[in-house]
Parts: sequence; C-alpha cells; structure tokens
Amino acid sequence: MSYRRTVDFLLHDWLGVASLRERGRFADHSRETFDSVLDTCERIAREKYAPFNRIADTEEPWFDGEKVHLPQSSHDAAAAFFGSGMLAAAQDYEIGGMQLPCVVEMAANSFFAKAAIGIGGGMLTSGNANLLMAHGTPMQQEVFAKNEFSGRFSGTMCLSEPQAGSSLSDIVTRATADGADHASDPLGPRYRLRGNKMWISNGEHELTENIVHLVLAKIPDDDGQLVPGTRGISLFVVPKKLVGADGTLTGERNDVSLAGLNHKLGYRGIPNTLLNFGEGKYPVRGAAGAIGYLVGRPGQGLRAMFHMMNEARIAVGLGATMLGFAGYEASLEYAKSRPQGRPIGPGGKDASKPQVRIIEHADVKRMLLAQKSYCEGALALELYCARLVDELHTGDDDARARANVLLEVLTPIAKSWPSEWCLEANSLAIQVLGGYGYTRDFPVEQYWRDNRLNMIHEGTHGIQALDLLGRKVVMDGGAGLALLRSTMAETIARAAAIDLLSGHAQALGAAADHLAAATRAAWSTGVADEALANATPYLQAFGHVVLAWIWLDVAVCAARSPSDDTIRGKLAACRYFFHYELPRIDAWLGVVERRDDTCRTLAEESF
Ligand SMILES: Cc1cc2nc3c(=O)[nH]c(=O)nc-3n(C[C@H](O)[C@H](O)[C@H](O)COP(=O)(O)OP(=O)(O)OC[C@H]3O[C@@H](n4cnc5c(N)ncnc54)[C@H](O)[C@@H]3O)c2cc1C
Repeated sequence: MSYRRTVDFLLHDWLGVASLRERGRFADHSRETFDSVLDTCERIAREKYAPFNRIADTEEPWFDGEKVHLPQSSHDAAAAFFGSGMLAAAQDYEIGGMQLPCVVEMAANSFFAKAAIGIGGGMLTSGNANLLMAHGTPMQQEVFAKNEFSGRFSGTMCLSEPQAGSSLSDIVTRATADGADHASDPLGPRYRLRGNKMWISNGEHELTENIVHLVLAKIPDDDGQLVPGTRGISLFVVPKKLVGADGTLTGERNDVSLAGLNHKLGYRGIPNTLLNFGEGKYPVRGAAGAIGYLVGRPGQGLRAMFHMMNEARIAVGLGATMLGFAGYEASLEYAKSRPQGRPIGPGGKDASKPQVRIIEHADVKRMLLAQKSYCEGALALELYCARLVDELHTGDDDARARANVLLEVLTPIAKSWPSEWCLEANSLAIQVLGGYGYTRDFPVEQYWRDNRLNMIHEGTHGIQALDLLGRKVVMDGGAGLALLRSTMAETIARAAAIDLLSGHAQALGAAADHLAAATRAAWSTGVADEALANATPYLQAFGHVVLAWIWLDVAVCAARSPSDDTIRGKLAACRYFFHYELPRIDAWLGVVERRDDTCRTLAEESF
C-alpha cells in the first residue's frame, strides 16, 4: 500500500475524520477539502523537498561571521512551505488560518518529514506562535505570532544552556527589568536578558525577515539571587531584530549573537546554534543586554513552555516515524530488485537455478515486516494522539476531560516510541541493503543519522521514562493508566469477536494486566529511587503495549475487508507485532517489578 493510501486508510477508514465536520469549527470542511490539503503538501514535498534531501545533508549551513548560509534549495523549500499556508493551518479564518483539524494538519506535515526532514518544516515556528496565542498578550499575538503564521518571521525555542539540558531548573540566563518605564512597554514588560543558549535549532538564518526567540530565563530576587528550581523560570519573547507595536522592524538589531554552529550527525540542513544573549556585541539603545518582553506571569515560564513542548513532542514522534517510513520504502524497493542467494529446497541449494530476489528470503521479509509494523503502528499512534488534540479543542466536556487524561499518558510514548523503534527500522533498512546500505550511495544511512536525534532532544529517552513512571501513571491516583486500560478493553472486546484477532485480544488483555501489576510493584515500597531505577525498561514495555493496542484497533478496522492484498499486509504487520514484539515486555517488566537494583547499586569504581 502506498504511503498516501495508508494515510487515507488511517484518517478515513480508521479514525473517521470526515465526521469532524459535524463540529462548528470544522463545518466548512469535507473529505474533499482534507484531500486537497494533503494533495498540495504531497506535491510540494515531492517537488521541493525530496530531491534536495541529500543536498541538505552534504551542504551544511556555514557562518561567514555575519550571516548563516543555506543551500538555495532550502530557501525554495521554505518559500513553498510558507506559501502553502501550513504554518497557520489550524488557526482561525480571521487570522488567515484554515481551521484544519490537528489530525489532518499532522498528516499533511508528514509528507515534508518523509521527503527531507533535514530541511525542516515549520514545527518550531507554528509551535512558537501557538504558545503566544495561548499565553501572550493581544499585542504579542498581533506583532509576533501573526507574523510567524504568515511566514514573515520564524520562531525558536531557547531552553537549553551549555550546563543545563535535562535539568532546566539549573538555567542561569538572567532577566532584569529594563529601565523605570519597563512595565509600560506596549509589547509587554520589558527586560534585559544575559546568558547563553545552547543547541538552538534555527537560531540564525536568512530564511525570514526576523527570528522570534522564546527564551527561558530567571528574574533575580531583590538580593540579586536566582530563585532555585523551576519556580524561578520566566518566559520572554526576544526578537533578533527589534519590532515596533505595528509589527514593522525598527532598524535596531537586538543584542543576540551567534557564538557558533554545532556540526551534527544528522538533521544537517537545520542550523543548530549556540546563541549569546546580551553580551554586548550588538548594544541596544546604548547598553548591552538583549531586549525581551515577558510572556505570561513571572515564574510561570516553564508551564507556558510546556504548551509548546507537548505539541513539539507529538511532532518529534511523527518526524521519527516518517524517517522510519522513508527507510522502509527504500529498503522495500531494493529488496524487490536485488538478486542474491537461492532457496533451500528438500535437497539443499541448487546452484544451477537462478538467484532469487532477496525479498523472497524469510529473514528479509522479517526485517521488512518489522519496519512496517514499527512505522505504520507509530503513524497510527501519532494520528490517534492528534485526533485526541482535536477532541481536547472541540469535544464536549466529557470528551475533553477524557482526551486530556489520555494525552497525559500517551505523550511520552508518542515522543519516545517512534524515536527508538523507527530508528531501529532505519537500522533494519540498512541491513536489508547489506554493504550498500552502509554507503552514502543510498539514502538509508542518512535516515538513520537523521533519526538518531529523536531520542535526545525534546526530553531524552531517560527523562521521558521518568516522566511516565514517576508522574504520569501515578498522578490523580493512577487515573491515566486506568482510562488507558478501559479504552484498551473496548478494543479487546471488539477484537475478541473476530476469529482472526481473538488470540491477539487475549494477549493484549494479559499484557495490559502485566503492565498494571508491574506499575504497582515498582511503587510498592514507595521509594522513588527503587521504582525509577528501571524507568526506561518500563517506558519500553508501556510503549509496546500501547502499540499492540493501536495495531489491534487498526486490525479490527482492516478485518472488514481482509481480501484486499494491502489490507492483508496490515493484518500481517499486526500479527508480527503480537508474535515477535509484544512478548518482549515480560523481560522489560521483570526488572521493573523486581525493582532490580543491578544498575542502581553498582559503584562507580566497578565500571
Ligand atoms: C540537534 C539538536 C537540536 C536541539 N534543539 C534544541 C532547541 O531548539 N532548543 C532547545 O532549548 N534545546 C534544543 N536541544 C537540546 C536538547 O533538548 C538537549 O540536548 C536535551 O534536553 C538533553 O540535554 P543535554 O544534551 O544537556 O544532556 P544531559 O541532560 O546532560 O543528559 C545526558 C544523559 O544523561 C541522562 N540524564 C540526565 N539527567 C538525568 C536524570 N535526572 N536521571 C536519569 N538520567 C538523566 C539523559 O537521559 C542523557 O542520556 C537540541 C539538541 C540537539 C542535539
């Protein structure tokens, strides 16, 4: 089944997305309008992204001391993307949006990620603008967010510092009030920021007229001390070039400078930067210090930033998924044409017979089916989560509450599961190509390098695991896990009535019980250190149970027309997942429920 047909199947046959038009916000939409957005994005991705994927990898951004240079193809791709209106796709008509459901927006954006993720789409810019729409003042929305939605400005998120990555409570960027009139600036309370921000994606480039940085910083107390912990963190909007209240550039350069570009393993088309804020390279109005405007209330910065991070986490999962898909498609095509080896017949191999294509070997089919089950399963999960976001925004009170609780527990999985398993898919794609896969003559090694980022940024794998086991499954008396289980139970009941799937239904029920028992066992002593020492195996098991559920739900839908070859492929991928993948959870949950201390107690000297 082509990628597009898979998307259409998931959106329409499985998620019934066309029914969203019954909601006021989406009333002008129909299957036709959704299709036309997908068609446009598929076309731009094919024409402006895919042919330049390798160029974005080999022609890295470079800095001439003044400007960062990118290949012309990246400028052309950005212009086509901005022109498509996708930056504002989910926004209201009044501000130039399309009022598109999140689930369709995500599906449309997936084409760009599959074609050339290293060129980058608009995830940071629209995420930045969405945050301002939720937490900014009307003026900040007008001046910054709306110019981001139109593609005139682009956005960044500036959280990390050289000494503070996972532990954001330790950031030391300072913000001090800028002059006696600081509180009356029309763009929001005005501060001067000083500090360094590390790893900032798209921190410097010439793709847009201006760059809108959203920066976490601490406002010192009356004694000049920084408040420890995340309570002390505030959020500021810091434009690269200063802007008047009417949105025009004032002609002043803000005191934000590029200290250097980071040279990455993958995702090379996106400039990754170390930015210095307020070191005096570009003094503003006679003084050092980058001008920034407070967003929301002091001390509430991380809360507001999470608005952007949650959205970003689903988008990261989707990106990882699409890289997996790209590798799957490339290795499938290769396997269909590469002759190598002969089948083993009753008398052994017959060297006089012609070679077979490698797709005819069971082990190669295993590698292809593994990729298919990881990538199609992950895509279904991401679209399911995006559909929950639509429920959160447009559902009735009950549906919103339900979506909110489910998203709490599913977001760490939506981010981390594809990051691990679609990366594994990329590794299998290399394996299918053998030695050729290990060369730069084929694209699969680049997909793997690009994908390797996803377990690191937006909260590392380990941090996602701590969030899941330490917070998400225990908060509100375990309401998230309970709701997930009851949602799974509905799928299990439907699958149990279908002969083909009843065995899987039973296996999923047992797996969900095991997960719940392990969760209780991990916390049975109440000692966080003991419970959380095996948070990552817990995350892996949790993810596999979620994916088994998603696959079973998709299979219930697919089982309605099992005579179609492509649908049979979906049922086979589901079967693969239940036979080869789900049983792994017992090993992962084993160490969780025993609170195994092998890693936790090993002395540093013993390494
Ligand atoms: C290409 C790229 C793009 C990025 N883009 C951005 C961006 O646009 N904006 C931005 O703000 N940041 C960005 N980042 C930064 C990214 O979010 C951080 O790299 C990430 O949060 C990890 O921080 P760190 O690199 O300092 O690693 P560390 O926090 O030092 O972590 C190192 C290792 O220790 C583990 N670890 C750390 N703390 C704990 C703990 N308490 N318990 C258990 N294990 C722990 C981690 O899981 C990890 O395996 C980007 C990074 C990269 C590589």
